[in-house]
Amino acid sequence: MPRKKTTRGRPKAKRTYQRRAVASRQQTAASKQPPAGSWKLEAGSRGPIRRVKGMHDILPKDQKYFELIKFMALKHFRLNGFERIDVPTIEYASLFSKGTGKDTDIVQKEMYYLASNDEEKEPMALRPEATPGIARAYVEHGMLNLPQPMMLYYVAPMFRRENPQKGRMREFWQFGVEVLGTSNPSSDAQVIKMAWDILEDLGLKDLTLEINSLGCRNDQNNMREILISYFEKKKQYLCEDCKRRLTVNPFRILDCKEEKCKRIAEDAPQIIDHLCAHCRNDFKKALEMLDELSIPYDINTRLVRGLDYYSKTVFEITPAKDKSRQGTIIGGGRYDYLIEMYGGREAGAVGWAGGIERLMLALKEQKIEVEDPYKPRVFLAQLGEQAKKKSFSLLNELQKEGIGVRAALSKDSLRSQLRLANKFKVELTLILGQKEVQDKTIIVRDMKEGIQEIVALDKTLEYIKGKLK
Ligand SMILES: [Zn+2]
Ligand SMILES: [Zn+2]
Repeated sequence: MPRKKTTRGRPKAKRTYQRRAVASRQQTAASKQPPAGSWKLEAGSRGPIRRVKGMHDILPKDQKYFELIKFMALKHFRLNGFERIDVPTIEYASLFSKGTGKDTDIVQKEMYYLASNDEEKEPMALRPEATPGIARAYVEHGMLNLPQPMMLYYVAPMFRRENPQKGRMREFWQFGVEVLGTSNPSSDAQVIKMAWDILEDLGLKDLTLEINSLGCRNDQNNMREILISYFEKKKQYLCEDCKRRLTVNPFRILDCKEEKCKRIAEDAPQIIDHLCAHCRNDFKKALEMLDELSIPYDINTRLVRGLDYYSKTVFEITPAKDKSRQGTIIGGGRYDYLIEMYGGREAGAVGWAGGIERLMLALKEQKIEVEDPYKPRVFLAQLGEQAKKKSFSLLNELQKEGIGVRAALSKDSLRSQLRLANKFKVELTLILGQKEVQDKTIIVRDMKEGIQEIVALDKTLEYIKGKLK
């Protein structure tokens, strides 16, 4: 009977496992509140272990996109003189509640908190974004006293407990830049230009740049009053969250995802109509520089970016067909008060972040082919022990020349090797058998023409280079 057989297959281990599981459950039930730091490992569900919800693997078939995006970003970061910074994955949670904003979805609903223990009393969190950590590092390491501005870049994974959907993962990769220590609007144009160049170099078409200004602290304080008096009149139509936001932070109502709130927000007064002369002038200068750089933009007065630290210029880049803005691939703006908030002096800053997974989707949607510079062009087939040995040095020579070459030294059958050569779609197949080793020759088959030639072994490299031109 099949069932009996299975039990006989692994009876002992399974029984111990179950017993442990029961014991552990009883223990947990007995001491309802396990003491901090002593984690109980529950037996978990049966069957294979799967990845955690919202986490994802980046498989070899997608790595060509992943690598290309990182490569292109790095190229423009370095060309523009930006330096790399790596900040920790774990920070004190207060860094984000202070900077990103305690009323934002990111901090309220999406942040992964780490249990505090005896050593660390203060709650910690997995970083949902990099900007606060970088601004903290800038202050903490006294970078304020170095020649300004500091121009920094990063490529790193971030963590947000969002509802997983296409292009929106709970662990996701971002690449981005921060220019710290300047309020000059030319930096706004500089970072936008870099973002634009990276996306264009990747081959993306139909890009839309939307831009807005959120004004300085004074403008935002004035706007706060204006928004409160506007929303106060429509309070009864707002969602519960927004009723609370009304007094705490009326700006958050502008990016509420509830339909009824969206409709009310649509007719709300716009901050761009209430900018002071200085902010209006800075915004104008940034736009003029974009004109000079021939970067097309749309002023979107509804764009608020939804994080507390933003001031003045904010922007988003999307593939044009994506009207929902779910597909924003790069977004950022100015945060002139964050450094001061973290204990530094008042110092302007501007930056953006790009989502690598979303960019990968955009590349696939636009059917952009990624060329592999190391794709195999030659296959080396061998037959017999002597030939196998000789193949090693020949492979080595070809690789030294940067020629993509594949072989299957673990295979002995010529037919299965030739099948592989076809699969790789190589241009040339080399065949080295016992007879060829003895004659110091090699067979070169042109896969396209179907012609075979015998070449002297010590002339192989030259011959191949000539053929592959
Ligand atoms: Zn202003
Ligand atoms: Zn709402």
